[in-house]
Amino acid sequence: MATSRATTSHSSLQDRVSVLLPLPLAGAYDYRVPPGMDAAPGAYVTIPLGGRQVNGVVWGPPSLEVDDKKLKDIIGLLDLPRVPDALRRFVDWVASYTLTPPGTVLRMTMSVPSALDAPRATTAYLLAPESDPPQTDSRIRMTAARERVLANLSATESRSAAALARIAGVSPTVVRGMADAGLLRAVSVVQEITLPQPDWRKPGPRLSDAQSDAAAALVDSVRRSVAKPEDGFTVKLLDGVTGSGKTEVYFEAIAAALAAGRQALVLVPEIALTAQWLKRFTARFGAPPFEWHSDLTGAERRHGWRAVISGKATVVVGARSALFLPFPSLGLIVVDEEHDSSFKQEDGVIYNARDMSVVRARMGEFPVVLSSATPSLETMINTETGRYDRLTLPERHAGASLPAIGLVDMRDEVLDRQSWLSPTLQQAVNDTLAAGEQVMLFLNRRGYAPLTLCRTCGHRLECPNCTAWLVEHRLEGRLECHHCGLSIRPPEACPKCEAVDSFAACGPGVERLAEEVTLRFPDARFEIMASDTVQSPAAAAALVQRMQDRQIDILIGTQIMAKGHHFPFLTLVGVVDADLGLAGGDLRAAERTYQILHQVSGRAGRAERPGRVLLQSYRPDHAVMEALVSGERDRFMAAEAASRERHHMPPFGRLAALIVSGHDMAAVDNVARALGRARPTGNGITVLGPAPAPLSILRGRHRRRLLVKVTRDINVQALLRSWLARVRLPGSVRIQTDVDPYSFL
Ligand code: ADP
Ligand code: ZN
Repeated sequence: MATSRATTSHSSLQDRVSVLLPLPLAGAYDYRVPPGMDAAPGAYVTIPLGGRQVNGVVWGPPSLEVDDKKLKDIIGLLDLPRVPDALRRFVDWVASYTLTPPGTVLRMTMSVPSALDAPRATTAYLLAPESDPPQTDSRIRMTAARERVLANLSATESRSAAALARIAGVSPTVVRGMADAGLLRAVSVVQEITLPQPDWRKPGPRLSDAQSDAAAALVDSVRRSVAKPEDGFTVKLLDGVTGSGKTEVYFEAIAAALAAGRQALVLVPEIALTAQWLKRFTARFGAPPFEWHSDLTGAERRHGWRAVISGKATVVVGARSALFLPFPSLGLIVVDEEHDSSFKQEDGVIYNARDMSVVRARMGEFPVVLSSATPSLETMINTETGRYDRLTLPERHAGASLPAIGLVDMRDEVLDRQSWLSPTLQQAVNDTLAAGEQVMLFLNRRGYAPLTLCRTCGHRLECPNCTAWLVEHRLEGRLECHHCGLSIRPPEACPKCEAVDSFAACGPGVERLAEEVTLRFPDARFEIMASDTVQSPAAAAALVQRMQDRQIDILIGTQIMAKGHHFPFLTLVGVVDADLGLAGGDLRAAERTYQILHQVSGRAGRAERPGRVLLQSYRPDHAVMEALVSGERDRFMAAEAASRERHHMPPFGRLAALIVSGHDMAAVDNVARALGRARPTGNGITVLGPAPAPLSILRGRHRRRLLVKVTRDINVQALLRSWLARVRLPGSVRIQTDVDPYSFL
């Protein structure tokens, strides 16, 4: 490709490309392509950077901003499939939307650096031809162990020393010794990725009419995206009551994607909860999907990343970061429980995986399915305006009825001191246990008590690093900060007045509720399910299994038990503090409270036995409680929408937050005030703050917040960019940009 460049200061376009590196740099930089190298856009390459070698991706044509004399050569190409065009455009889009350097987003797609290198060849062993039969050579001592190794060797299929040793029941040194003695032939092999493949040909369950209609619409959208990619992008909301079979329905869409030779991605809010989901998937497709989550080991991540990029992982289920895996032929994304706020990533690159899934599907020209019994307001509005299609499943599968939801007006109940279960709820628990059925008590608060104070002086135990109370975890014997993870032994005496034995626990967490359960229902078998008591996916699966097998009578838990689970004998859900989520006045507090309470209610009565739900509330006439009891979800959401519209709140207006933080309070305040002075002004722009964040100190960093609200016709990214450019930022202070914020802490 080299052309004459003697007379110009730039080499020709053909032998230069821009390369994006997985680093927080402003953009892609130019490199020279050595003659003969096929550095097409999307190719993984190694380039020199300040004496190091760094892997990056050919991003496109050169910028021509680098002078020829400074231009460096690409060192080499990596032996990997190219990054598809759709993924490159997605990276650029996410970077621009979230105001993040593109290299930082690229790094999310290259999250396993070691996976970029070709897997190293390892030594394996075959039967050496001359050793057949080996016993004829009198110089070679044959032992029983050696005999066993030989018996497990073949002349064609190699085995590693470790595998051979395991199978033959010998130590690997025996195997190596035999190789040295010429009894085995050593060969160098590269481990191939082998994954059991989900089989789309397997028949699914018989679907009800409503399920079939929804499934047909999804299957059709997948097929059409393959036949006619330019019209392939669609968003389908699968809006079905809890237990209506949404999972079975979107499995049909996955089957269609597999049949078309495409990969499918299912995003779920909490991977640890998917034991039942994995079983169902495996039963449906004959093989498990590939799981992608934060608990994988280094080797599993390496293997997984390569399985995805090689197309061998055909169905991936994962938490939000799975969206950034380098799928070469993605043809479908399903976002299960699309309303869940855990799809919002709150540090590093701040993004919403639900929203970014829609973008990824648009870039890749394929359908995305958003599934929920309580769709987010944003999604509901998008179906009303026709941007998304809505498919409904109005009934539970197999004629199961939705649970009856009742309120317990806590203002009328007489509770004992240090008691949180009203007489009404206690009675219901007793009745349910007497009928041989199961109970779930929902309290969205981990630990024993959210606050510990000194009875003598009133001092409250606070986190030294955060504006937050320390939460007592009595089972662990610790006080913990739920914001920074600080964990300390409870002090002997009050740090303020030195009084001994003066601490009082205030308010309940699940552990304390368990105490009351022991007291009131001494014969019931109970367990606690919270993210800190159930520490691994395996432990969660085992707990779910015990519940399914009815070895548990009362399950006490936080929101991690609210989703997905299907327990046929669970017929009573008691919500201990239905008002909990309403405090704080966050934009989505009512919507979220509705969603979580509806979700947890949906655990009751999912099979033949009808379920009921009791919500303990001091605000029984709150719109959320009324909507839950009456089942008038859409009316509630319409009222929420009207109120958001009145206040120009999302999705009717756009919001972005700037969080200024640092260890030096004065420096933080300076920057926050400078941002305030440089605030954008104009029609349709409102800036609130700077103000101390509700968590005004987090992990020892002082925090100030500014919130900008603009009408939808204003490009908020452009506005933020020019705003931020007007303020000088000392090295000790950081500004985080949160577009479409979900957390206001
Ligand atoms: P959702 O996700 O809407 O809450 P699920 O997909 O979990 O509902 O379905 C609830 C239960 O009903 C599951 O145990 C599921 O296997 C079962 N189910 C749903 N549809 C069918 C069907 N057509 N045939 C057999 N079982 C079904
Ligand atoms: Zn803390």
